[in-house]
Amino acid sequence: MPVTITEDHDLVPLCPHCNQSLNVIAATTPVAQGSSAFKFGKRTVYACPSCRKALGISQRKGFWAG
Ligand SMILES: [Zn+2]
Repeated sequence: MPVTITEDHDLVPLCPHCNQSLNVIAATTPVAQGSSAFKFGKRTVYACPSCRKALGISQRKGFWAG
């Protein structure tokens, strides 16, 4: 089934946890610790600023673009 994707700049996503509008998304980059820390690359954790629950994690690792 074909799907059309439209870009909507007025779309405000809702937090799936507390249903607040995500006008702002908090992001933090935790520091990896331990002997395997070198494997971790750079990770960013995105969270809802209202309930602080994590929305997702992105990982940047050398040649990976995102
Ligand atoms: Zn929330």
